[in-house]
Amino acid sequence: MAINSYDFQTIAPIQNWIGGEYREASSGESLDVINPRHGKVMTSVGMSNADDVQAAVDAAQAAFEGWKATPMRERAQVMYRFKALMERDFEELAWVISHENGKVYNEAVGSVAKAIECTEFGCSLPNLPLGETLYVSRGVTCSTIREPLGVCAGVTPFNFPYMVPLWMLPQALVGGNTFVLKPSEQVPVGADFLARLLHEAGLPPGVLNVVHGGKPAVEALTDNETIKAMGFVGSTRVAKLLYARGAQTGRRMLCLGSAKNHLLVVPDADLEMTAVDVVRSFTGVAGQRCMAASALIGVGDFDPILEAIVTHASKLIPGKDVGPVITKQSYERIMGYINDAEAAGGKILLDGRNAKVEGAEGGYWIGPTIIEVTKDMPAYTDEIFGPVLSVVRTKTLDEALELENSHIYGNGGSIYTTSGATARYASQRINAGMTGINIGVPVPREPFGFGGWEYSKFGHGDITGMDGYHFWTRPRKLTTKWALQPDATWMS
Ligand code: NAD
Repeated sequence: MAINSYDFQTIAPIQNWIGGEYREASSGESLDVINPRHGKVMTSVGMSNADDVQAAVDAAQAAFEGWKATPMRERAQVMYRFKALMERDFEELAWVISHENGKVYNEAVGSVAKAIECTEFGCSLPNLPLGETLYVSRGVTCSTIREPLGVCAGVTPFNFPYMVPLWMLPQALVGGNTFVLKPSEQVPVGADFLARLLHEAGLPPGVLNVVHGGKPAVEALTDNETIKAMGFVGSTRVAKLLYARGAQTGRRMLCLGSAKNHLLVVPDADLEMTAVDVVRSFTGVAGQRCMAASALIGVGDFDPILEAIVTHASKLIPGKDVGPVITKQSYERIMGYINDAEAAGGKILLDGRNAKVEGAEGGYWIGPTIIEVTKDMPAYTDEIFGPVLSVVRTKTLDEALELENSHIYGNGGSIYTTSGATARYASQRINAGMTGINIGVPVPREPFGFGGWEYSKFGHGDITGMDGYHFWTRPRKLTTKWALQPDATWMS
């Protein structure tokens, strides 16, 4: 495919990738994949059933012993080659997700760069001290050795078609597992691209399998007892269900869910930095980021900062700076939140409802929107997942913290201030797994773990960095003695 502009283009239908070859979904059913900029069908994807899932699991199981026996250093070499191939195809990778996901090109470029960074962590694993050894008693040594689990699975959302699968694959594969990936049916092209590049990089057949589809495929994966661990990233609605369902068969589940990230702004915050950051955070990827700022809690007289935020956001041009939202249904949901907030007395400070983009009139466009709301309105309580900032006023920082703490989600949260004391006070009290000080999108970079708290994550540990490696491996505790010790104690 040679996509290198926003012009609408169609591509060949996407099939499953199982055991190193393409296979049609056995159901014979397919789903249209829509380019959200144009609102037109760009391709279709096969919708898999339990038979397809079983075929992928069988291929992964057949490949497991050979891959496990391959030294980690050689497994990592595949990732090095994969990274080089992503760099070779950088622009095409970016345009592909611009087309299927709607990101404006610069955001798509950032997405590819982030995917490469995730891969680098996998490359580095053989150079890290991954086990421990201690001489624990006379003649006795204890060691931990991390071993692969077997066949693992990942289910991923629409908003980062490369990064989220690559939150999982480098650690899982370099760790010696084989894998079945079920990407979002809304963005199957990116996942297919990754599978092709990994194949070209020398990943043996069956080590990575990609099964496309929706709920039936995900449920079949979750119920498949050959699968030892499953990572899920998506909405809390699904994360919570799958966590409980997968745990019934005793496998490891790590399910990352939705968010309502709060930015707390006090009057002493740096006006320019805060305004630029807040706008980038709530409009980036059209607000369709689990780390997007979606609730701005202004403390006291923060009006000059709010005015600067509105001014900055009003300069962004849909189509150039802000992409469309993913589907017509998302568009309608987001418009519903804005309309309902207005009807309930919310004050629209910036209205993106009339956004239009020349040459892309069929796209799902909503421009940056800022609404002043009250804490009981759904525009504040719910995740909107669009370019909408809900502003709530409080009198004190404690009141702002109380509001943030009482929200059901706990993914990200930041304090904007120039006072070290205020920053320390708030950052120790924000109830979010990823906390920021003067950062609009407080995403931890590799080698740190990524993961929220409360209803933003179900399961123990985090998904990236060393936490990810630990999730996809298990420690063997090896205790060794080579000779009877004359000075043996009860410990020997
Ligand atoms: P989604 O939950 O609708 O879909 C995610 C995956 O689950 C897809 O692969 C989809 O096919 C599958 N799925 C959907 N409904 C299902 C069902 N009923 N049963 C089984 N599987 C089902 O999420 P989405 O719309 O693709 O992504 C947006 C959501 O993801 C937002 O809530 C966002 O906050 C969240 N997200 C969270 C993180 C994080 O790290 N916490 C990262 C990215 C996105």
